[in-house]
Amino acid sequence: MGVMTNKLPDNVITTTVDNVINWGRKSSLWPVTFGLACCAIEMMATGAAKHDLDRLGIIFRATPRQADVMIVAGTVTRKMAPIVRKVWDQMPEPKWCIAMGSCATSGGIYDTYSTVQGVDEILPVDFYVPGCPPRPEALLDAIVALQKKIMTEKVVRK
Ligand code: SF4
Repeated sequence: MGVMTNKLPDNVITTTVDNVINWGRKSSLWPVTFGLACCAIEMMATGAAKHDLDRLGIIFRATPRQADVMIVAGTVTRKMAPIVRKVWDQMPEPKWCIAMGSCATSGGIYDTYSTVQGVDEILPVDFYVPGCPPRPEALLDAIVALQKKIMTEKVVRK
């Protein structure tokens, strides 16, 4: 019987189930196609040719059933809030939310009864992007931060 060694061949890697699943999730984030106001224009610009979200595996989906990220881009009015929540509820788990711009994060300049003072009043937010509107680079930064967060999540529980 040969001597057992701990050395693996160069073409073999070891990892964990958590790592593989999280890598798959962070490499295929699909935001629901969804915009509420001016910030949505910057979100669209982030997806267009110059910044090209596709290269990160990010493809906007026109149905919440196939989406795992909600980018709340724009002012959330009290009238719109139940619809935003309904779209969120229709997204399967696991799912994440990015509040994009001053309006979505805090109501922004609309300190008024008709505007939700931050979308975290109606759903859980993972990352907040400041600005009015934020530049595409800022949204990209939040997406990369979200990818890093996903890599730390526990999938397999003991
Ligand atoms: S933060 Fe500024 S750019 Fe974004 S939706 Fe509000 S008013 Fe428009």
